Amino acid sequence: MSENAPANNKVTQGLKGITRIDQIDLKDKRVFMRVDFNVPTEGKGSSIKITDDRRIRSALPSIKYALEHGAKLVLGSHFGRPKSAEDRDKYTMEPIARRLGELLNAEVILIDEPTSDAPKGLLPSLKPTQLLLLENLRFDPGEEKNSKELATQIASYTDVYINDAFGACHRAHASIDALPRLIAKKGIGFLIVKEIEALDSLIHNPEKPFTAILGGAKVSDKIPVIEKMMDLVDSFVVGGAMAYTFLAAKGLPVGGSRVEKDKLAFAGEMLKRCEARGKKLLLPVDHVIAQTFESNEAGTTHDVVIPEGFMGLDIGPKTVEFYKKELSRAKTVFWNGPMGVFERPAYADGTFAIAKILSELRGAKTIVGGGDSAAAAEASGHAEEMTHISTGGGASLEYLQGDKLPGLEVLRNLRPSATPTLEGAQ
Ligand code: AMP
Repeated sequence: MSENAPANNKVTQGLKGITRIDQIDLKDKRVFMRVDFNVPTEGKGSSIKITDDRRIRSALPSIKYALEHGAKLVLGSHFGRPKSAEDRDKYTMEPIARRLGELLNAEVILIDEPTSDAPKGLLPSLKPTQLLLLENLRFDPGEEKNSKELATQIASYTDVYINDAFGACHRAHASIDALPRLIAKKGIGFLIVKEIEALDSLIHNPEKPFTAILGGAKVSDKIPVIEKMMDLVDSFVVGGAMAYTFLAAKGLPVGGSRVEKDKLAFAGEMLKRCEARGKKLLLPVDHVIAQTFESNEAGTTHDVVIPEGFMGLDIGPKTVEFYKKELSRAKTVFWNGPMGVFERPAYADGTFAIAKILSELRGAKTIVGGGDSAAAAEASGHAEEMTHISTGGGASLEYLQGDKLPGLEVLRNLRPSATPTLEGAQ
């Protein structure tokens, strides 16, 4: 076990015992590939537009590999959180099918009813330039219930199961958990390999100094990852609303900023533990403030104090400079959570400045932990300069904090006789 193994006795097993797509014979096999096409969109009905197609592009290497190696391919994904039949128009996979067809230069045939006989009928005669995409898996309530019935229907037209949906691996849903239990030949795609290798590089002997940038709405969401990171990092750089809980714990005036009162004790404890272990925990030294959350009239404080009647909504320019000094030394950086309410232009500067600083680090590994941070890196225009941007926010945090991801565990075969090889693993 490495010196940096998690303190909470949760040891990640990486990809041990899991077969990769390129270790499985796909020729003329009906391959079901679970992908994560849960992309952000804007607009409604026929004018709906995909605003960031990173998740679709990230799945292309496995999709292309499968097609080039003779698979009869069917893709399945969830998209949004459809609640009722009326949500079908909003969450149809149609725009995704169109975008995928453009990116692949192939014909993507959308299957309205994944549980119908259509996939079974169409799969054998598919040409190498054609593939099937199932309609939103969450239109079937069985998906989120991990239903064996839904899994059995999909299994009836599946010879090989591949999971490349990293962003959905932390959920035991039918297409992630129940389905692969029914299929003998199964494995992961190239995206999951890349994601796990990137996260494992943070856990196992990361190059030092290692700084974690933590931000976002709540301390409470990040407690397990903060505790895990405490063993790994040299310093924390804190922004977003969670910074105010730490500042309040130090007894500083934070005005009407968002503070989690029930987490003040934890924040105080963390500050003490960091000090005792010689780890830095950097907090904002100035702020962009407003009188209400809705206000677009922002001001900047002179120092750390936020006056009564104001709330902090972004880190200020002095904080950016302060954080830049710390980050310039780092050889490894993990970033999760925006520095402010970056969705609104008046409070986006701090987050975008951090993205720019990371983009300019030479020789450092910069890993962005999905969700809002990925969206912020993308919006800042610096996404391409990061070492890795995870496609999974929740999944990457759960993996880093040492939790087992159901989507990986179901594919793990640790029997000694079953070491995956090209012939033997299937
Ligand atoms: P999370 O999902 O925990 O990473 O939180 C992301 C959300 O935190 C974003 O929607 C931000 O708008 C929000 N956020 C960041 N900074 C603040 C702040 N100072 N006050 C309120 N919300 C914030």
